[in-house]
Amino acid sequence: MSERYDVAVVGLGLFGGAALRHLTRLGARTVGIGPGEPENWDTHDGVFASHYDSGRITRRIDRRHEWADLAARSIQEYGPLEDETGIEFHRPVGTLWADTDHARVREIERVARSLDITCHVSELSAPTSVHGYSLPGDVAYTFEADPAGYVDPRKMLSAQLSSARKAGAHVCVDRAIAIERNSGSFRVLTAATGSIEAGSVILTTGAYANAYGLAGSHIPLRVKSEITALFRVDGAQSAPYRDLPTLIYGLSHSTLSDFYLVPPTTYPDGSVYLKAGADTSADLTLTTREKMNEWMRSGPSDPFARDFEEVIGAVLPTLPIVETHTKRCLITYTAHGLPYIDEVEPGLLVALGGNGRGAKSSDAIGRAAAALALGNWDDPLPQESFSIPTDAGNEPAAMPL
Ligand SMILES: Cc1cc2nc3c(=O)[nH]c(=O)nc-3n(C[C@H](O)[C@H](O)[C@H](O)COP(=O)(O)OP(=O)(O)OC[C@H]3O[C@@H](n4cnc5c(N)ncnc54)[C@H](O)[C@@H]3O)c2cc1C
Repeated sequence: MSERYDVAVVGLGLFGGAALRHLTRLGARTVGIGPGEPENWDTHDGVFASHYDSGRITRRIDRRHEWADLAARSIQEYGPLEDETGIEFHRPVGTLWADTDHARVREIERVARSLDITCHVSELSAPTSVHGYSLPGDVAYTFEADPAGYVDPRKMLSAQLSSARKAGAHVCVDRAIAIERNSGSFRVLTAATGSIEAGSVILTTGAYANAYGLAGSHIPLRVKSEITALFRVDGAQSAPYRDLPTLIYGLSHSTLSDFYLVPPTTYPDGSVYLKAGADTSADLTLTTREKMNEWMRSGPSDPFARDFEEVIGAVLPTLPIVETHTKRCLITYTAHGLPYIDEVEPGLLVALGGNGRGAKSSDAIGRAAAALALGNWDDPLPQESFSIPTDAGNEPAAMPL
């Protein structure tokens, strides 16, 4: 590509797709650079991503005001984006948040009140069925109705890219392997295509932010291995379960914590799966591209299949499961628990760190990054909330939900 762009967005995941769309709509000449989903995980040696799935919980309720606010503004964009592109990605089935730590649910209630989100907290004193889930007697819970629910992250990304392309964005399906600084511009070198010149660059490379030295300096992030379990459910028998709310469950369990699930939905292979995920007692911090890739290709996720089955058996005892398998993913944490939306040197920006909850809020994050790249931070939240702290050390701690 010989054209010189105003802005190159490196990394076409959920943050990058949103940034590209907003930049293009704001009038910038843009290019997005990023590889597609690997065809063969077993042999793939480029980069992976955190959105290769069909269900990401979306909700405004959160313990952090900023996340709730980013989510609320992102969710408002879902409908217009679906209408514009014809790609449906949002299912507003609601979200149930149950927790043995009652204080965490009270924090959610406080934040929800400050944003005028309806949120009532109930405390159980005996095992009870709540919104279709069997919960033990020691939890507090709250429920957020529509628009909470889930999004299909692959479809949401397709919608962002489709809209960006329609507005004039170019897309280069390739991996960046270096960034050279020329006076007043950047040259992004890619693995296959060659190089692309742009006045500014936004790095939205997710877990791989520190791979290839693209940022010029080390970005303080902790990349954690994440295990999910996919429960295949017979298509015909899944009907009564499809409209269950998504569940976030701070449970007491010997190996799993911060459990969550997305109700049965159809995956690209045509099968219907309920997806569950959790932190496990064996989660790893992955410090290099090679270690992340090794984890994604062949990390030991199966030892936890039984634990996931046990929890699903407790909350949905009659779910007609045909088969279970586990999958691996990557979660990227920042030092303050909010994404970094910042300029690391003049013209080189980052939008990084979903902290395990970035999918639903990706539109507002991408929008804020686009505005910053064009020199006009207009987000209602202060830019300092998203700055990279100078004293964060190399690897900040992981944040619970
Ligand atoms: C199992 C799991 C469950 C989750 N559940 C939820 C949930 O319920 N709700 C929620 O809101 N969030 C959830 N998240 C978090 C959410 O998926 C992430 O926050 C979100 O995907 C982050 O978006 P991103 O654009 O930063 O990263 P990604 O979506 O990973 O995108 C980064 C992109 O950068 C590309 N890239 C990397 N290196 C390069 C390079 N050198 N050159 C070019 N491109 C590059 C990759 O190919 C990728 O496409 C979950 C995450 C996981 C792993």
